[in-house]
Amino acid sequence: MSVAPDVDSPWRHWLDQQALNRREQGLWRQRRVMGKGYLDFAGNDYLGLALDSRVIATQAEGARRWGAGAGASHLVSGHLAVHEELEQRLAALVGRPRALLFSTGYMANLGVLQALCDSHTAVFQDRLNHASLLDGARLAGARSRRFHHRDLDDLHLLLARSREERKLVVSDGVFSMDGDSADIAGLAATAASHQAWLMIDDAHGLGVLGSDGDGCVGRAYDCDQVPILVGTLGKALGTAGAFVAGSQALIEHLIQYARGYVYTTAQPPAIAAATLEALTILEQEPERRTRLHANIAYFRQAAAQADLPLAASSTPIQPLMLHDTERAMRWAEQLNSHHIAVGAIREPTVPKGQARLRITLKATHQRHEIDRLVSALIECQARESGS
Ligand SMILES: *Cc1c(COP(=O)(O)O)cnc(C)c1O
Repeated sequence: MSVAPDVDSPWRHWLDQQALNRREQGLWRQRRVMGKGYLDFAGNDYLGLALDSRVIATQAEGARRWGAGAGASHLVSGHLAVHEELEQRLAALVGRPRALLFSTGYMANLGVLQALCDSHTAVFQDRLNHASLLDGARLAGARSRRFHHRDLDDLHLLLARSREERKLVVSDGVFSMDGDSADIAGLAATAASHQAWLMIDDAHGLGVLGSDGDGCVGRAYDCDQVPILVGTLGKALGTAGAFVAGSQALIEHLIQYARGYVYTTAQPPAIAAATLEALTILEQEPERRTRLHANIAYFRQAAAQADLPLAASSTPIQPLMLHDTERAMRWAEQLNSHHIAVGAIREPTVPKGQARLRITLKATHQRHEIDRLVSALIECQARESGS
């Protein structure tokens, strides 16, 4: 039996209205199908490991050995020896007693916050924290108090004012849209002085920062200083998934209570194997990190010479501040016409008036490719000033 199209449905009306809102503000989001032949200055594969032939071969071999997927959650029958080995390698990398795999970084943050927080918990978040951290606290029914970006005095004031029994300070390690880093030592000291725990999401620091790629927390800070550390595998490590690292008690608690861990299919074992290979390369080829940091310095110098409005950042994330949404879209479009991919970031991902190009560098970029990017950016600039 066919049903008449419900053009008068309140849902249809609401969807249309929501779409119109986004379009009218010039904020309509669109996915681009990435073709071959694009010079990638948009992705987060900072060390080039996603395209490394050894990582790819290990993943293919893993799929032949264990199948394409894990087939079940970790607590049912999806937890294999390769997952166990990966957890141990990740824990060793960041100097923690134990680590727990999650299917994505988004899910790891939701899982941790939901498992640790409730309406009696106060959560203190840097204003520029990743959306998943804000969403996690909301899901937990905790109220997030947001402190000014990297402002320890503001954090101290908010902590002093709160009456909740358990307090949790949460920050990105490297801020994903800004590229600057949190003051881990300052956060740890401030949190400790209020008996608060500290959670750092090091999605962009892992593999890139630290003496050997252990990230902006890693072995430089122990579990007493940073009790909860989150890392992701889909950025510098080139694969997919995430992990939480900390004490035995924390990890056991997550296995018991983190719904985003319990009620989801385990990471495909082939991905775990590929990640182990990526970790081996990270260890054996420190020159990748050296090349990445040399590329960052080279790009920054060329951009400064051309008077391009780069934000202060020493990480692979190099924001070019254009402020106006349409301007950012126009520049990204023009770069695209040169077959160069960069991210155009606008609200609500960043605050209003802070639209930017998010340019990311990799260890595998060649000098002439960075030159091509800078020339194209100079062309965008020249076009605007009408010269
Ligand atoms: C990318 C990112 C995440 C999400 O990780 P996925 O594995 O992509 O879900 C979480 N936190 C930060 C800071 C990120 O940049």
